[in-house]
Amino acid sequence: MIDLAARDAADPLAHFREQFALPAGVIYLDGNSLGALPKAAPSRIAEVVEREWGDGLIASWNDAEWVTAPRRIGDKIARLIGARSAEVVACDSTSVNIFKALAAAVSLNSGRKTVLSETGNFPTDLYMMQGLDRLSGGRIVAKAVEPDAVIDAIDADTAVVLLTHVHYKTGAMRDMAATTAAIHAKGALAIWDLSHSVGAMPLHLTDAEADFAVGCGYKFLNGGPGAPAFLFVAGRHQADALPALSGWFGHSAPFAFRDEYEAAPGIERFLTGTPPIIGLAGLEVGVDLMEQADLSQIRAKSLSLAEVFEHGMEPLVQRFGFTAAGPGDPAMRGSHISYRHEHGYAIMQALKARGVIGDFRDPDVMRFGLTPLYLSHADIARAVAILAEVMETGAWDRAEYRVRAAVT
Ligand SMILES: *Cc1c(COP(=O)(O)O)cnc(C)c1O
Repeated sequence: MIDLAARDAADPLAHFREQFALPAGVIYLDGNSLGALPKAAPSRIAEVVEREWGDGLIASWNDAEWVTAPRRIGDKIARLIGARSAEVVACDSTSVNIFKALAAAVSLNSGRKTVLSETGNFPTDLYMMQGLDRLSGGRIVAKAVEPDAVIDAIDADTAVVLLTHVHYKTGAMRDMAATTAAIHAKGALAIWDLSHSVGAMPLHLTDAEADFAVGCGYKFLNGGPGAPAFLFVAGRHQADALPALSGWFGHSAPFAFRDEYEAAPGIERFLTGTPPIIGLAGLEVGVDLMEQADLSQIRAKSLSLAEVFEHGMEPLVQRFGFTAAGPGDPAMRGSHISYRHEHGYAIMQALKARGVIGDFRDPDVMRFGLTPLYLSHADIARAVAILAEVMETGAWDRAEYRVRAAVT
């Protein structure tokens, strides 16, 4: 038996739970998709709206330091991902940043034309590659191969490899340093999608010699729905990487209003347009909170929560037909745990009706996010107990639980 009370009593992160506003009676296992609301966010966002916007009006671009927010928050995110100052900006969506990174990487490796990824990657990663392919009129070719075949598929025509560090469905985690080294050995550049990694574990982009990276602000960073994402460009590439989306905020002198584009010298060249200040304010609250936590402790607790989850699932797996969707070794997974079940959608709806909120990914994957800042071991054990009850009573087997909502 796992001693839940002892683990929770010894949990160095337990006090972070107080910093989040979560509804009573809810066990929230979807923080890998939309992080919970930090209690400090509503008042900070209200301050930005009422005081900085309402009273300060346009002067707030300077006085409230709005104009430097993408870079200031980018520097904070850099510390969470093992990057250096001036290598990260908080901007745009992850999708848009993927496009920016791909285009810049291809321009750096211009003798080669393939952008390579894995089948089953998060769709937007593949779609952005395909869009760049169409736009380029044959100059750039998008290609995806089976996850295990990626390194072998790199050839003399491969300009860049776009990989997701932690897989959104299965939770499978790649070895960033080893994979980047293998990509470099074959002359290609590496772009890492950190959407399910940032804020969930220590990351070491500089040590891994990553070239580019992107990630989400609204998942483990708790930045709020649709929060700005981030883009990392290794310092060594910045001078040579010309942005394809050459917007005025990436100009060396935006307020000179010149006709000709001239890229800003550093990471700022990867900004596009006017930053979304209200969204950035929410993101900064989440990032500031994350900066107070020790990422090694976050990773250790994530593994401990996963152990409790898996231990509780043991008697259910065979009896009710669940299959683990990710690697068996927790060290090879990120911070969510997934199971396949043919009635996964209905089972998840039954769980939600009982206050256990996870999510579902087609065709049959039930995902449970393990967010160490606001979940206890007791929460996890209780969630699995509720799942056991739903299965034992057959409570999931109702017509209303089979109706698919627009967002699953
Ligand atoms: C969540 C996620 C995204 C989301 O992209 P948006 O542009 O924010 O919608 C992209 N990539 C991966 C791997 C994700 O998990």
